[in-house]
Amino acid sequence: MAAALCCPVCGNTYADRWRCECTHPLEFAEQPLPAGPAPTFAEIDTREGLWALAGFHPVARRVTLAEGWTPLVDAPEWDASFKLEYVFPTGSFKDRGAAMVVSRAVGLGVERVVEDSSGNAGAAIATYAARAGIDARIFVPTDTTAAKLRAIERAGADAVRVDGSRADVTAACTEAVEAGEGWYASHAWRPAFYAGTRTVAFEIAAQRDWSVPDAVVLPLGHGTLLLGAYRGFRALREAGWVNEIPRLFGAQATGYAPIVAELHGDGTGNGEADGGGANTGTNEAADGIHVREPPRREEIVRAIEGTGGDAVAVGEGATRREHDRLARAGFHVEPTCATATAALRTYRERGVLGPGADVVVALTGSGLKT
Ligand SMILES: [Zn+2]
Repeated sequence: MAAALCCPVCGNTYADRWRCECTHPLEFAEQPLPAGPAPTFAEIDTREGLWALAGFHPVARRVTLAEGWTPLVDAPEWDASFKLEYVFPTGSFKDRGAAMVVSRAVGLGVERVVEDSSGNAGAAIATYAARAGIDARIFVPTDTTAAKLRAIERAGADAVRVDGSRADVTAACTEAVEAGEGWYASHAWRPAFYAGTRTVAFEIAAQRDWSVPDAVVLPLGHGTLLLGAYRGFRALREAGWVNEIPRLFGAQATGYAPIVAELHGDGTGNGEADGGGANTGTNEAADGIHVREPPRREEIVRAIEGTGGDAVAVGEGATRREHDRLARAGFHVEPTCATATAALRTYRERGVLGPGADVVVALTGSGLKT
């Protein structure tokens, strides 16, 4: 029996729906917490992957590729640690969410999942659907990279290319969902996806023997990883396994920066980060975070403000420069990841993060898929 969902705004509860009748995103009605103290790292069976800390999870494991426990490594050139979120079966952190959301779908007896994605989430859902033996239909923008499209199609999913903006892709997908074409496995809407992305926080804390960094910096589009980190660290604190929640910092792409606009207002220089280079136009290099209307916008803003974090918009020039630096340091990632290390430079230059700050940066997608 799958866990019930509820609306935090109007209080309606449902056995399952992709959003509330009032249009707000839904959450699990009950949030399990493990009893007892945190295990030592040696006591955690990492062979269980994401499900290793089972006491936190509202979703039972039905499909897995043994994902999770990505490396946390030193990055001296950035005076930070990098969480290598591109070391996943499909080359992005989206597998955290896909493993859990497809597990929920299988538990509900779903025969076909439907998703809209710029690429990485679509590839993850298509792959986990293939592993589970269910059908997938993925709506993608026409400019999705060839490698991401191939990852979707090679998994046997039906890729539907939609001409227009990212919002048009979502609209085409939700129309298909409403027409009964499948179960919406949305990385933006489904709480099961965030139950999966929370595990990034569990891993960071466990890999540091239950200490939390001062700050976590990550790319910010729909907020699937930022909100996952926020929810994960909060759950750890509620369980009494950690005492604090790190400051959460988002890196958005210039031209696709609704959270920066909300925090700093449109057109101010405060939200921009391009290291003094030309900063006109939009950041087309960071294709993984081209999101202008994230459904969980209010929660993202609350998570950033509540932790003393911030968000900046990173231009294409800074993204490309950082992407080269990352590659030359041995991190073969997609350009979107470079917005996070570019943002870290900006936060340091502005003194938002002091020289002694203990920082983890999430590198979210593989360069092999670009
Ligand atoms: Zn509601």
